[in-house]
Amino acid sequence: MRNAIYLFSAALMLSANFSMAAEPLNVAIAQADITPPVGYRMSGYFYERLSTGANDPLYAKAIVLRQGDEQAALVFCDLVGMSRAVTDAARQAASEKTKIPREHILIAATHSHTGPLYFGALRDYFHEQAVARHGSDPAEKVDYPAFLTQQLVAAITEAQQKLQPATLTPGVAELQGVSFNRRFHMKDGSVRFNPGRKNPDIVRVAGPIDPLVHCLEFENAKTGRAIGMLTVFALHLDTVGGTEYSGDYPHYLAQAAGDAISVFGAGTCGDINHIDVTRDDQPKGQEMAAEIGAKLLQAAGDAIRKSAGEVPTSLAVKQAVVECPLQHYPANEIAKARVNMAKIGTRELSFLEQVETYKIVALQSLPKDKLPLEVQAFRLSDDVALVGLPGEIFVELGLAIQAQSPFKNTIVIELCNDTPGYVPTRKAFAEGSYETVNSRVEPGGGEMLVDAAVKLLKALK
Ligand SMILES: [Zn+2]
Repeated sequence: MRNAIYLFSAALMLSANFSMAAEPLNVAIAQADITPPVGYRMSGYFYERLSTGANDPLYAKAIVLRQGDEQAALVFCDLVGMSRAVTDAARQAASEKTKIPREHILIAATHSHTGPLYFGALRDYFHEQAVARHGSDPAEKVDYPAFLTQQLVAAITEAQQKLQPATLTPGVAELQGVSFNRRFHMKDGSVRFNPGRKNPDIVRVAGPIDPLVHCLEFENAKTGRAIGMLTVFALHLDTVGGTEYSGDYPHYLAQAAGDAISVFGAGTCGDINHIDVTRDDQPKGQEMAAEIGAKLLQAAGDAIRKSAGEVPTSLAVKQAVVECPLQHYPANEIAKARVNMAKIGTRELSFLEQVETYKIVALQSLPKDKLPLEVQAFRLSDDVALVGLPGEIFVELGLAIQAQSPFKNTIVIELCNDTPGYVPTRKAFAEGSYETVNSRVEPGGGEMLVDAAVKLLKALK
């Protein structure tokens, strides 16, 4: 009788995949300073801008997870984007040191517009101009990509060495009035991004927002001490501006963390920013960043307070590569764009002409027809999964993944491992405006990423 019951419950446990739960989850978070020296070129806008100082240090923050034989690393950098060369090198080196498979390492940028311009067509152009003028580039006294690679590997390695038995408490809260879809239908029938505050020609907003703040809180399973928290929200990190390095609003979120480490991941916010066009009295710069940070902190606190508490974890990772078709330009337009690079940051070209010039030149350093884009999916529990996508992903695509995901709580993070420009929806491509001009993928590329992500999530469930 006893044996029969034992056999029955063992079979039940196996069928429900509870065998994983027997293995304890181990988690640690480590951070490395990735602030470049003062004087380095800054990213974020279409003109040359040299840093004059730091408001707050830039960090790479690595969360390493291990359960049984499964290991994963989620790394977030206070940068506008990740260069593929850096993430390739860092993932390779970190994998050799830690035995975490390369495909299980996600390296994301938070999209801070107040970090270094260290790769891409604009950096290459400014760099070549400086070398031609001065013999060397005074803005690049250090090899920042090499430094960044080294710091990424250091953060992942340190986190793995500090692994400790941990609990996971997931939470979700709604935050309204902080993020806004920045694309609008105008009276002339066009769709425009950032049409300006109180613009009388605005008819209606062209897309949704994702108001959910996702939190994952990790605590030491024995002592209950906080290890840290990952917060994910879909809102462009372009609130600060100026010439001082800053992590933007996640910096304010992190200040309340005490000994624990607060990590921020950008949700799918390709078409989302903080500008409320119905108002002309929003604060600017660090004041705006501080206000958003405070509201996010409150929402994250609400998410954890309302949460049902720690959950049984079942770490697993799946990865796929999507061969995404790229846009093409005829030879004469490519030649014209190369000449027009000199007009970027001047009034000789309209803003959208500058953006297109930059995009056409950027396309020339990518493969000819298809760009391999990585999609990663991490299962944390029966209800919680996290997806990593490259590029600046439109919020509609993130919402589509959440809607089709078999997990109750699906967190989607953009700008992972690579920065192939904006990834708009098919609908947005038809409407046009800035984000579609500043995209390298063909219409439909974003929907391909959604399909791949949903497939991985279904396989993990
Ligand atoms: Zn952006």
